[in-house]
Amino acid sequence: MNIGKELNYQWQVNVLGRSALRLNRILMARKAGKGQLGKSRLLTPPLNTSIWTKELIGQHYLRGRYANSHGKVAWVTSGAPIEFLKALDFYLLYPENHGALCGAARAAEGLSIEAEKAGYSRDICSYARTDIGAMLSGKTPVGRLPKPDLLLACTNICQTVLHWYRVLAHHFQVPLILIDTPFIYTEMTDHAVAFVKAQLEEAIIVAEKVAGKPLDPRRFKEVTRLSMLASELWLELLRRNRHRPAPISVFDQFTQMAPIVEMRGEASTVDLYAAMLKEVDQRIEQGIGVVPEERLRLLWDNLPVWYRLRYLAEFLGAHGAVIVASTYTNAWAELGPQMDPEHPMESMARTYMYPILNRGTGEKLATMRQMIQDYHLDGAILHSDRSCKPYSVGQMDQRDRLMRQDDLPALLLEADHNDPRSYSEEQVANRLTAFMEMLEAA
Ligand code: SF4
Repeated sequence: MNIGKELNYQWQVNVLGRSALRLNRILMARKAGKGQLGKSRLLTPPLNTSIWTKELIGQHYLRGRYANSHGKVAWVTSGAPIEFLKALDFYLLYPENHGALCGAARAAEGLSIEAEKAGYSRDICSYARTDIGAMLSGKTPVGRLPKPDLLLACTNICQTVLHWYRVLAHHFQVPLILIDTPFIYTEMTDHAVAFVKAQLEEAIIVAEKVAGKPLDPRRFKEVTRLSMLASELWLELLRRNRHRPAPISVFDQFTQMAPIVEMRGEASTVDLYAAMLKEVDQRIEQGIGVVPEERLRLLWDNLPVWYRLRYLAEFLGAHGAVIVASTYTNAWAELGPQMDPEHPMESMARTYMYPILNRGTGEKLATMRQMIQDYHLDGAILHSDRSCKPYSVGQMDQRDRLMRQDDLPALLLEADHNDPRSYSEEQVANRLTAFMEMLEAA
């Protein structure tokens, strides 16, 4: 270890950075106390714990900025089995989360253009283009991204990551671990679990080599336990929206879900969600809802439109409509019951074969149908995401079935999660207005 570099890391991250982020948290809490945080005529102010989320995300990217001088870094896909890497003390960067952050910060378009200038087609997922653009240009709203020592891609979300991570491996000249998860058409077979487990065993050998130390089995179990606890708390948080009025909207969940994705396996994520659940329960006790008068309860399918979250929340809020459930935020809540800290290898194999995109489209329809019952839904908005083909495939059929067989009004809304060039505000507003009028008349 280089002592000078390590001292600089401790100073920048744990002294200066932490103090600045803490101060920011205090200032934001003061603002919240005066009712000045996220002020909106149409929506209830954000949760006080959202300030804590912001601080955790800030700390995460701050550590990333200096991570190369402190230890080993791995770049991983959002649904990758990360527990063994965390137990080996890798700093984990999630390019998709970074992409979402760029989308929300309105930086994704410029970064995508950087990638397109280098020859990457606009038909490629906008997360991939955003991050390849950041990699090529060195630009990012978080200041600086650490270089990876290792890459881990799991095919449980899509095949795009397979090609994207090959580009990264070629660019950074580092090893790439690929975990191939068999698609679940009907049920998870023992053979498929054994196949993934065998890949994980090989992956651990590679990761140990890069980390320069062996995996501690006790730490591995502990990280798995923390991942499981965070996922269970997240599930409880989402379930609280079965109440009327719903205490948090799915737009809130979109911004609060970063820790369950990029900080799984950390104690601070568990503490955050425990505190958030408490605050949400207080809202329920006090009868506080997302909008002053909740009239319509809706479902959202697919990724968010990161650059128009607030616009969409207020647009719907003006009609007394709240999105109370989403297949996307639910995807991380579904993983908890698959995790077993006593058998972390087997549990990782099962857990990471289970994401919604690794199961048949009929499973997603079944999830939406269950949500209609559990969340007392009046309608559904299916975001047809130009970028995310695996999530959008089958949506037309799903919408038709929801309408015909479940008698649920459903709207297909075309946009792109990160690229505003594939989004028309006028078209979205027209379609939403017509949908709201239809629901209100019903
Ligand atoms: S195509 Fe979809 S699942 Fe794949 S990286 Fe893009 S957003 Fe994620």
